Amino acid sequence: MILGHFALASLAKQSCFHKDNWILLVVASIMPDLMDKPANIFLGLPGRGVGHSLIVLVAVAVFAWLLCSRLKINTDFLFPGVVMWLSHLAGDFVKPEVFFWPFLGQLEPSPRFDFWQKLYQFYIARVYPEQFWLEAFCVAAALSLWAFRSGIPRLVVASLARQEANRNRGIWKPRG
Ligand SMILES: [Zn+2]
Repeated sequence: MILGHFALASLAKQSCFHKDNWILLVVASIMPDLMDKPANIFLGLPGRGVGHSLIVLVAVAVFAWLLCSRLKINTDFLFPGVVMWLSHLAGDFVKPEVFFWPFLGQLEPSPRFDFWQKLYQFYIARVYPEQFWLEAFCVAAALSLWAFRSGIPRLVVASLARQEANRNRGIWKPRG
C-alpha cells in the first residue's frame, strides 16, 4: 500500500485533523517505512521490521513528549502523529510477531526492497489483494471527499440546471 498511506493522511487532513499540519500527517503516516525500508536496503534488516512494531511507536512518542515538554514545545501534534502512525500499521496488515516485536519471537528476514518489483507485485500481479482494495477504497474516499469539499458536485448540478433551463428556452442544442 503506497498511495493508500498518502490517501489516509489526506482523509485525516480533510476531516478529524483539519487543523493539524499536513506535513506532520504525511510523515507520520509513512514513518514505519521511512525507518524500515532504508534499514532493509542498506543493512539487510526486515522490510517490515522494528519500525512497524508497537514498542518503537511508543518509544518515539514518549521520547518526543519528553523532549517537547523539556523544550516547552506544544505537544498537540503527538496525538494525530500517533494516530497516523497506527493507521500505517493497520493499512499494512502488520503480522502479530512484527506488531508485538520482540515479544512473539524473532522477525523473519526479507529480501532486499525493490521498488519496481513491489509496484509490479502490488498493482499488476495483485499479490496482496486485501491491501490493493483497501488502497483503492482509501484513494477513492480521499478524492471523493476532496471533490465534495471543493464544491465540484455543486458546479455540476448548477451546470446541468443551466443546460436544462437553456433547453427549455430553446437555446441549447445537442451536439451532432
Ligand atoms: Zn509499511
